[in-house]
Amino acid sequence: MTGPVTESDIPAERQSPDVPSSGGIDLISSHVADVAGLSVRRALPRRSRRTVGAWCFLDHMGPVEVGHDQAVSIGPHPHMGLQTVTWLTAGEILHRDSLGSEQLIRPGQLNLMTAGAGVSHAEATTGSYRGEVQGVQLWVAQPESTRHGSPAFEHHGVLPRHELAHGVATVLVGTFGDIASPARRDTDHVGVDLDLGVGVSLLPLAPDFEYGLVVLEGAVRIGPVGIEPGNLAYLGVGRHELALTAASPTRAILIGGLPFPEPLLMWWNFVGRTREEITAAYQQWQAQDDCFGVVDSPLPRIPASPPAWLTTPLPPSARRQ
Ligand code: MN
Repeated sequence: MTGPVTESDIPAERQSPDVPSSGGIDLISSHVADVAGLSVRRALPRRSRRTVGAWCFLDHMGPVEVGHDQAVSIGPHPHMGLQTVTWLTAGEILHRDSLGSEQLIRPGQLNLMTAGAGVSHAEATTGSYRGEVQGVQLWVAQPESTRHGSPAFEHHGVLPRHELAHGVATVLVGTFGDIASPARRDTDHVGVDLDLGVGVSLLPLAPDFEYGLVVLEGAVRIGPVGIEPGNLAYLGVGRHELALTAASPTRAILIGGLPFPEPLLMWWNFVGRTREEITAAYQQWQAQDDCFGVVDSPLPRIPASPPAWLTTPLPPSARRQ
């Protein structure tokens, strides 16, 4: 249920906000992207904000009605150097991967796939489900210490919950307050689902983490700043707590972590460090190299488009004589 990164991820020298910062909050508009015929709101990466901690990708899909004429249908495609975090608030999706995993995911459950050096997967609605589908898929960049390692897959049917004054926080990954998720974590990061009722809820934060908030449904205010679906609210570092005010029932995702210390290069479904390794991964997928394994799926394999640096002519000054 994720789409690839379609813009070249040229390491940004300096990240600047889309709108002037207010109360230390930058509101960054999501990009509307098409994923297998479905419209998604892509909150990360954006030109002005590429990562929040190790989180480097966030797609908000739906709500969309699936039935006989509409489906989520994403054929086998590879990943490298990242973890996919899949979380639904409505509907169901079937995950199949090259490790042999076949896992139905429903609201309240977490699918966490670690790509390491290479994995492939397919994600689709089941065909038997009719109704609304809504969810998020996020990627976590793997650190140097694990990104060349083995792929892995985890499914968590039940996750720990933290009661708020007006709502419930479900800890997908990492530690929130004194509640820790059992999900694998290769860096210091946190991901939390917020199911908020009307009122003010106080969230415990870690001051050395940077945070971002995406609203899926409803709206919240942080001081004077209103946050609605279609934006990433970047909250920076240095906060010990966060007061969220909801005027109506609201669903949101909070992500955070230590600012990622390594430079990242993202292309299509790959996270790496250099053009050479991304180019090699692209060529291996196109050649059906077994480094990404094989997914047992009825859906067709998704071909990769070539990295921009292979198709864009070099400027004259960069040409060798
Ligand atoms: Mn994927």
